[in-house]
Amino acid sequence: MSLIVMKFGGSSVADAECMFRVAQRITDCYKAGNEVVVVLSAQGDTTDELIEKAREINPNGSKREMDMLLSCGEQMSVALCAMAIQKLGFPVVSLNAWQVNLRTDSRYGNAHITKTSAKRIREELDRQRIVLVTGFQGISREEDITTLGRGGSDTSAVALAVALKADLCQIYTDVDGVYTADPRLVPNAKKLQEITYDDMLELASLGAKVLHNRSVQMAKRYHIDLEVLSSFKNVPGTIVKEVAKMEKVVISGVAMDQSIARIALVGLNNEPGVAYQIFAKLAKKNIDVDVILQSIGRGDSKDISITVTREACDEAVRVLEENREELGFEYLNVRKDVAKVSIVGGGMLNTPGIAASMFQALYEEHINIHMISTSEIKITVLIDEDKADRAVRAIHNKFFD
Ligand code: ASP
Ligand code: MG
Repeated sequence: MSLIVMKFGGSSVADAECMFRVAQRITDCYKAGNEVVVVLSAQGDTTDELIEKAREINPNGSKREMDMLLSCGEQMSVALCAMAIQKLGFPVVSLNAWQVNLRTDSRYGNAHITKTSAKRIREELDRQRIVLVTGFQGISREEDITTLGRGGSDTSAVALAVALKADLCQIYTDVDGVYTADPRLVPNAKKLQEITYDDMLELASLGAKVLHNRSVQMAKRYHIDLEVLSSFKNVPGTIVKEVAKMEKVVISGVAMDQSIARIALVGLNNEPGVAYQIFAKLAKKNIDVDVILQSIGRGDSKDISITVTREACDEAVRVLEENREELGFEYLNVRKDVAKVSIVGGGMLNTPGIAASMFQALYEEHINIHMISTSEIKITVLIDEDKADRAVRAIHNKFFD
């Protein structure tokens, strides 16, 4: 007997028909003799619709109340799915974050899980029940409801898999695995049988929307094997694990992220402490900075460019403008029409010429690069947003054709 955590995304539970398809999958797994814990996301576009409802009432409602609202979607899903499973004649119970004591810090809208207990779930499993748990939500130290950030149900699933010492954590979604690029964009993208945590982590952070990146981090830390697979098709998915069989490829995939903005601080003083001041101000407001580029100093002035999420851009600009005098820049140059395109792969570690091939693909498409950033296993470029699709295809062709 294995303990399996299954997680189904919003598109997998979008309507009654989907709900019964999922209920069938769950009960098949249960009938096969497994203990089954299921984490669900809100149905279809429910979370977006709730955000829209909030905007109609008050676009500046507090983050606490937003979390109170957004957590409702997941609660609907588990209750409805439990009813579907009851109709199929199986013992089932649905639980929310309170009941499984899923604790988080207090960052409303982007809370991080601090601990969760297996106790209640264990008791229910011992009663031979299928256990359904709300994804995405948690409880803060102040006993408030929090949410884990968009796509956060994946992370709920992995956290429960860790707490329950599950044998496998399956993430069911509307694609049947992890591809070398978004198949909607690159028709000849290939499905990977296996991928390492590290490559997956980079791909997830870089905009490949299959998995919430914190779920991969947690899976890596606690050695939970993840399987990404389709809830619609009965085919093997992609396994995310420590060591993957690398089929003679140096890169695992090409990712694109269009949800970013670039802010350039022009005319900073060319002296020690300037970067520190800027990043301390942004960090204090919990604004994550991604790519950072500092120009070579010209006499007593230099520029620093950063990228942030498009969502955080206005706030970042506000923080910087408020401190303009102290930070000492001449002006900000902000662009929201940019995109990040990246290649990822542990295989590039010992392979020279990878960057050259990527830049050549862009050159051949006459696409200009605004910023470059690299790590041991990824290369990222910032380009104009309207050229991003073309860039992904060109780069993918360079490496995979
Ligand atoms: N329902 C939440 C969202 O749409 C969480 C999730 O789907 O994982 O972001
Ligand atoms: Mg998701």
